[in-house]
Amino acid sequence: MTSRLARARRIVIKIGSSLLVDGSDGRIHRAWLNALADDIAEARAAGQEVLIVTSGAIAVGRRHLGLPAGSLRLEESQAAAASGQIRLAHAYQEALGRHDIGAGQVLLTLDDTEGRRRYLNALSTLNTLLKLGAVPVVNENDTVATAEIRFGDNDRLAARVAMMTSADVLVLLSDIDGLYDSNPKLNPDARLIPEVKALTAEIEAMGGKALPGDSSGGMETKLMAARIATGAGCHMVITNGRAMHPLAALRDGAPCTWFLADANPRTARKRWIAGTLKPTGTLLVDAGAQRALAAGRSLLPAGVTAVQGLFERGDAVIVAGPDGGEIARGLCAYNNEDAGRIAGHKSDEIEQLLGYRGREELIHRDDLVMS
Ligand code: GLU
Repeated sequence: MTSRLARARRIVIKIGSSLLVDGSDGRIHRAWLNALADDIAEARAAGQEVLIVTSGAIAVGRRHLGLPAGSLRLEESQAAAASGQIRLAHAYQEALGRHDIGAGQVLLTLDDTEGRRRYLNALSTLNTLLKLGAVPVVNENDTVATAEIRFGDNDRLAARVAMMTSADVLVLLSDIDGLYDSNPKLNPDARLIPEVKALTAEIEAMGGKALPGDSSGGMETKLMAARIATGAGCHMVITNGRAMHPLAALRDGAPCTWFLADANPRTARKRWIAGTLKPTGTLLVDAGAQRALAAGRSLLPAGVTAVQGLFERGDAVIVAGPDGGEIARGLCAYNNEDAGRIAGHKSDEIEQLLGYRGREELIHRDDLVMS
């Protein structure tokens, strides 16, 4: 169980408001955050990549803006988030900075992670931060949210981040040990379930809605997160993060619930590209490109002979060989117009042709599935 965490290459850690922020005065629990940063530094020293999805902006900001307790109007929540997010980001920067680890703030909406256009940009920012050795610190971009900001939205956001970055493990640090067979706040005999292999109706029924006054989305949003994460080949674990060094505690056998994925992130992502997305265009390629793709390489503009259909950057397209037959599917890094302009050209001509320095590949091999 613990080795599952140790084996992970890329880990997303979601931190709930109640762990990070004092409910009465809105102060950030610095000592706890420092201890978490120690755990993160240890994971990175062991070669693991770590991304953080954090809540707490509203909880911090509302006290600093003098907003009353109780429920806030949407614009008040947004103002609170705007004010709290600065402090939150700063706290992470300081905590990670103690280990000389850089932090990069990334504010996303659930929509960015669902719509593939902005998705590609968000993903390359996250990957670039990781490559440069920084820890992405993600929160929802609450100021542009149009719907009511709900507690628990970040559970789903974290699962989407895990999905898009092909993380192996998502850790939800919460104020509850894991999934119980009934609500432990209402039933003293409730039993913790250590491992969930499939999200059956029976498991879903154990979820239940958040109780009034809960500062989290309860189990319901966590089960939604589990569905997204495991569907993307990412194992998810819920554990109580209250103790200092919550990751070390998890490693050392703290109570928790693991939700197991049946595929690895790579396979699941390829399944998603091959099966779920509807291609809206076609790239015709020459025999040389066809051979390169069969050998596992990316699709470069030079090998493309024609571009058909209408598509945006990040949309799924069909790749067809010289005889017109489908050979692969993938996410195209350019829209149909730009793809048409650079088709047949060397990658180092892209900047001159388009006026900006885009990707070298039309379809990166990670975004490509042979048919
Ligand atoms: N984005 C919100 C905040 O930072 C939290 C949403 C959540 O807890 O799910 O305050």
